Amino acid sequence: MENVLAKKDLQIAILGAGISGLTVGVRLMERSWSNVTIYSEYIAADGLERRPLVSEVACALWLPIWTRQKEVDDSYRAREVYWSRYSFNKFKELDCSCGIELVHHREFYTEAEVEGGLAIPSELSNMLPGFVGQPVASPPPMPNDMPALTYEQSFETYVVAMPVYLSWLVHRFRELGGKFGSGIIFRSLDDVRRIDAKLYVNALGLAGGHIFGDATMVGVKGQVVLCPPDPNICCSVGVGEYCLIPRRDALVLGSLLQRTFTDSNPTQENIDLILRVVRPWIASGLFHRRNSTSAGKGLKTPSARASSAGLRPFRPSGIRVELEQFDRFCVVHNYGHGGAGVSLSWGCAETVVDLLNEFDK
Ligand SMILES: Cc1cc2nc3c(=O)[nH]c(=O)nc-3n(C[C@H](O)[C@H](O)[C@H](O)COP(=O)(O)OP(=O)(O)OC[C@H]3O[C@@H](n4cnc5c(N)ncnc54)[C@H](O)[C@@H]3O)c2cc1C
Repeated sequence: MENVLAKKDLQIAILGAGISGLTVGVRLMERSWSNVTIYSEYIAADGLERRPLVSEVACALWLPIWTRQKEVDDSYRAREVYWSRYSFNKFKELDCSCGIELVHHREFYTEAEVEGGLAIPSELSNMLPGFVGQPVASPPPMPNDMPALTYEQSFETYVVAMPVYLSWLVHRFRELGGKFGSGIIFRSLDDVRRIDAKLYVNALGLAGGHIFGDATMVGVKGQVVLCPPDPNICCSVGVGEYCLIPRRDALVLGSLLQRTFTDSNPTQENIDLILRVVRPWIASGLFHRRNSTSAGKGLKTPSARASSAGLRPFRPSGIRVELEQFDRFCVVHNYGHGGAGVSLSWGCAETVVDLLNEFDK
């Protein structure tokens, strides 16, 4: 017992203050580690004038997709299912003051997507409230040059207003006694070594790969258009890389999956791409409440209030959550969450803390 307590006093440095780093910070403090500091170029939701973090741009639905592209073995698959389920159950415990709401979601697929295994698998669908998977009866209108939608999954899930939620995580971490280091940019492993700690958590998102010698990371650009909230929209909708999400703070239209791009900032071209697909969904009235004040009255897309973009930290072989031992220190990696960093955040954080608890000092 004494040994365990002594271990939990060791200085831990978390690198990165997006959703991955902050969630690990909170879980470490909740599980009795006492000396935890988060270091980062930026702290999410710190209110500074700057480009938003990927974590702040996210829509963000619990929808664990776009996490990898290569075939994975059964043990990796089981870990991803565990991370997804664990996080869903954790969101269930949090209330709306954290920026989390339950939403009815409808995800539409083409035949090729269903055959390619992109629909939500039964290991996850069996825990989703109200889950129904069926051939599409009334698909959202789509441009003629896009393939027909044949299958629909609908269920209750969580939508997270990221600016509110990240502020809550920062507050929770501080409240539990966690500390933030001053702003720092890591360019190499030597920069990391300059921080005085024996244990590190790598939650640097896209940068988490190259600093630790993993050259496989790819930035996949996404963009969202934020419109004023519309309480008349009754559900969130997803079709491939497009979505419509009614949050309390904004109506979010998004979100694109671009592996090649010339500009990592939000562009007008991308706003047009998103509106071309999502505007007709809104105009159709299909996703409005029956008694809504605007349904059937010549629906228009509300004008964009803002648009932001981010590069998803995509790792083709899947998320890396594992311990790596160096000469004088030890790193637990937690990066490469692609399009699902929010959906898997609590589960991955739990595995990180388990690995640190098992680490033999
Ligand atoms: C448009 C869009 C929509 C999305 N929608 C969803 C969704 O609906 N559901 C979902 O689950 N996920 C969604 N995602 C994906 C999700 O946003 C990411 O998987 C997640 O935010 C990754 O979080 P992270 O903490 O690992 O990385 P980041 O948010 O990138 O955080 C990395 C941290 O490391 C710091 N950092 C990075 N490099 C350095 C450096 N060199 N030196 C010092 N500090 C550094 C940063 O400042 C930051 O604090 C979406 C993403 C986008 C772009």
